[in-house]
Amino acid sequence: MMQNNNISPEMEDQMINQAYQNLLNGYLSSNHRKKVEIIDKAFKFARDAHKGIRRRSGEPYIMHPIAVATIVSQEIGLGSTSISAALLHDVVEDTDYTVEDIASQFGDKIARIVDGLTKISGGIFGDKASVQAENFRKLLLTMSEDIRVILIKMADRLHNMRTLSSMPPNKQYKIAGETLYIYAPLAQRLGLYTIKTELEDLSFKYNHPADYQRISNLISASEESRNELFTRFSAPIRERLDNMGLKYTFTVRVKSCYSIWKKMQKKHIPFEEVYDLYAARIVFECDKESNEKHICWNIYEQITEVYTKHPDRVRDWLTTPKVNKYQALHVTVMGPDGNWVEVQIRSKRMDDIAERGFAAHWKYKIGEGEEEKELVRWLQTITDILKEPEPNAIDFLDTIKLNLFASEIVVFTTKGETMTLPKGASVLDMAFALHTDLGTHCIAGKVNHELVPNSYKLSSGDQVEIITSNTGAPKPDWEKYVITAKGKTRLRKALRHQRRLIIDKGEKRFMDFLADHNIEFSNEILSQAITRQFVANKEELYFMIGNDEIKLNEEMITRKEQGARFNWWRRNPFKGKEHPKASTDEPSKAIDTKAVYRLVTRDGVSNYQIASCCHPIPGDDAVGFINDENKVIVHKMDCSTLARLKASYGSRLVQTQWEDYSDRFQATINIMGIDQMGILQSIVNIISTNMSINMKKMNVTADQGVFNCELVVLVSDASVVTNLCREIKKVKGVNSATRMN
Ligand code: MN
Repeated sequence: MMQNNNISPEMEDQMINQAYQNLLNGYLSSNHRKKVEIIDKAFKFARDAHKGIRRRSGEPYIMHPIAVATIVSQEIGLGSTSISAALLHDVVEDTDYTVEDIASQFGDKIARIVDGLTKISGGIFGDKASVQAENFRKLLLTMSEDIRVILIKMADRLHNMRTLSSMPPNKQYKIAGETLYIYAPLAQRLGLYTIKTELEDLSFKYNHPADYQRISNLISASEESRNELFTRFSAPIRERLDNMGLKYTFTVRVKSCYSIWKKMQKKHIPFEEVYDLYAARIVFECDKESNEKHICWNIYEQITEVYTKHPDRVRDWLTTPKVNKYQALHVTVMGPDGNWVEVQIRSKRMDDIAERGFAAHWKYKIGEGEEEKELVRWLQTITDILKEPEPNAIDFLDTIKLNLFASEIVVFTTKGETMTLPKGASVLDMAFALHTDLGTHCIAGKVNHELVPNSYKLSSGDQVEIITSNTGAPKPDWEKYVITAKGKTRLRKALRHQRRLIIDKGEKRFMDFLADHNIEFSNEILSQAITRQFVANKEELYFMIGNDEIKLNEEMITRKEQGARFNWWRRNPFKGKEHPKASTDEPSKAIDTKAVYRLVTRDGVSNYQIASCCHPIPGDDAVGFINDENKVIVHKMDCSTLARLKASYGSRLVQTQWEDYSDRFQATINIMGIDQMGILQSIVNIISTNMSINMKKMNVTADQGVFNCELVVLVSDASVVTNLCREIKKVKGVNSATRMN
């Protein structure tokens, strides 16, 4: 670290006071109310807090907060609250003072801004790109709380960039990159054009020192001929403007090194061929805002009477200002040397807004007591800009990841619209929030271009695309992932509707079934069916029939001579031989639950039946349920139907053990991924070649880039399925492979 040993403490104090006085003078000449007292207090507090600390350049540390406050005041145009917060911006981070100390000394408003600045400053020079992104996200978040935080941060960054030469080269490179990546675009979004241009040029200077030097040399080398040309170009226009009696400045401005370099790169042209190297600008004085547009068009007329205008290059930002309030009239005309020259026509007020963004706009509106109101309106405008669905804005926000410290998150639709959701919201929440149909058909999401399940929890800044499928339908377990009130309501409604459809289908099946077997429907038959199926009511019975949980088939019926008694269950070939006996009449007493029932399959005949609700296969933790016909129905341990049966008929449950693994069992695997060349081939190779598993059915859909495959395989036990899923997941493009019930 350098030390300025040749400067005496007295001289140093003088330097500090001089810088501070300069800050105050600028503030006093602004349109703001003169609240010097609070600024003075902040200055003294910060000066004492940073006492004895030096910057890398050797300067006393306090010179940095003063410089930042000066930028805040003179280059951005903010008032006493922001100036005080800027003076205090590094106190909490770099000294022992806390936010509470600031609050008790300066009030909540300033403390909150300092707190915001402290939060976004931590780790900003971190090693990973994600750290940058995180900070940027915090930046955005804090911005929505108080825009002054981000403006002061911008000033802080600008001063750090201006003094970057005292940093070691590796840090220079990193900070410059971060500035170009995060701060310059943000400055542009905020309408801080001058700051944006300076940030870009400074970044460029450190990232590409040789190119920067070469271009700035070329600019100065061509200066003389350019000035000469401009004098020739402007003379006839000046004459006319003078005749109009206008007070104006007519200047020529060369593009920044960075934007020239960018143009050369983009168009693959040498410096000499950058035709719009410079632009001419007329800025006129005008007392009445209502006259400004009229004068602009008058000037336009004068110019186009002297020079031929380019038919396609008139930009009227007067009638429709840019979203960031930029107003001006641009016209491109053929100069005396045969080159096109752009002339920008603006009033002084418009020019201020163009150069300094909203802060300048604000400056023109301020009266006593209006400061806060204007700030709120300004904040709203910036919020609107961030919502503006410009592709650039989306690219810019695209790269942002990680979560916030707020209870709400802000995500982006593919159209760049923002949506506010509670923290913890899933892809499904967003889908339901957008539209019920999107929610009910949502099968997955793409978050920041990556495929995710619809249960995926979103984070602020995520760009989210909802992926739907016509065959997608709402599932009861979605209730676990939908946390918004709106989403829950819409999901439940959709589930009720779907359940209703299944009940209707089941009822129709039941009625058709009876009709097919010449059985007349009666309440007795219905209640018999309800009792025998262990269901609560007819809705549940019909639902299970409609949902294929109860299969109606002829074997289920036996007719006795008289009175058509229903027997619902297939006769059990092992009855009374290999498992404990259950009495049809007194089921609750019948079973010895301590016995272990061995699940055996011989020659394709099993002494058990696989429950259609959960499809267990050998190897699964399973429980047997003994039905009226003493047939053991095997359910998975965690099956919800089993849980219901357990409640009413617990004594009919029996422990089971799989005895024979040699036979083949059916398992369904759902594979999801991003559709790409060869993905199907790779999956098939794994199944049949690598693992020698028999495929029974494969149903593939590719919808909007999402590959979805329902695979039915025949396996000997559950561990084979687990292995298979693991192998399939290794295929490039596959996101998930899970066994379905
Ligand atoms: Mn700082």
